[in-house]
Amino acid sequence: MSFTGRLAGKVAVITGGSSGIGRAVCRLFAQEGASVAVLDRDKIGAKETCASLSNHHGNRHCFVHMDVSSEDDVVACVKSVEGEIGKSTILVNAAGITRDQFLSKMSGKQFDDVIAVNLKGSFLMTREFVRAFTAEEPGSIVNIASIVGKTGNIGQANYTASKAGVIGMTKTMSLELARKNIRCNAVLPGFIKTPMTDAVPEEVIKKVLKAIPMQRQGHPGEIANACLFLASEESSYITGTALEVTGGL
Ligand code: NAD
Repeated sequence: MSFTGRLAGKVAVITGGSSGIGRAVCRLFAQEGASVAVLDRDKIGAKETCASLSNHHGNRHCFVHMDVSSEDDVVACVKSVEGEIGKSTILVNAAGITRDQFLSKMSGKQFDDVIAVNLKGSFLMTREFVRAFTAEEPGSIVNIASIVGKTGNIGQANYTASKAGVIGMTKTMSLELARKNIRCNAVLPGFIKTPMTDAVPEEVIKKVLKAIPMQRQGHPGEIANACLFLASEESSYITGTALEVTGGL
């Protein structure tokens, strides 16, 4: 693929940037000219991602060790990113966790932990991003939800609730933020090959693959491409949408 500097001069904040989809988004956005802030609770991974980012457009990058579910961390990190690489106009909320369990065995903590990171984390990050935003340039927020937020999935009452919440919250944010010149969209990945899905048992993977019309898992870069489209001016009249990237699942 050729890189055309579609995000040249932009500052993008990516949560979950140490691994999987978030890391792929950081790399693609940097290749497209953005200065990238890699946010993650995995400090070593964030540092590694940051060190691997291209800067052929003269862009600068930074990483922040933080927890998206901590209000204090989120408030502090939005300020520190601004100090290091400038005011951001792009936010991708990719940090996420699973704590799978059948409903009857799921603990309150398993439920709360997933909601705290996947749903509240995206809320906190977006709120602070918006508070710091000045409407000199258009803004774009991309929330990584999941197709199971629409379909449900056995063993994931907590995760599907969090992702359905992200889809609804994205729509509300798009309504509130349109007048501030900020677009807000969700990407709904299907079954993507990352450390998150590497933990899924082999027999479950085989079953899921049979249900995917394209008969394969997606690559993190295929989700990053959708994020790039939604973050860039190519999608300048798209807000409040939930873009499925699932191989037809
Ligand atoms: P991953 O486990 O490879 O990456 C998730 C990243 O989030 C990790 O780097 C992790 O350290 C970080 N993270 C977790 N909790 C955090 C916290 N509290 N604060 C800061 N960082 C935190 O997983 P992935 O597959 O790349 O998932 C990325 C996003 O895509 C998640 O929101 C996930 O729910 C979503 N998603 C993934 C798939 C898939 O098939 N892999 C499908 C649908 C949606």
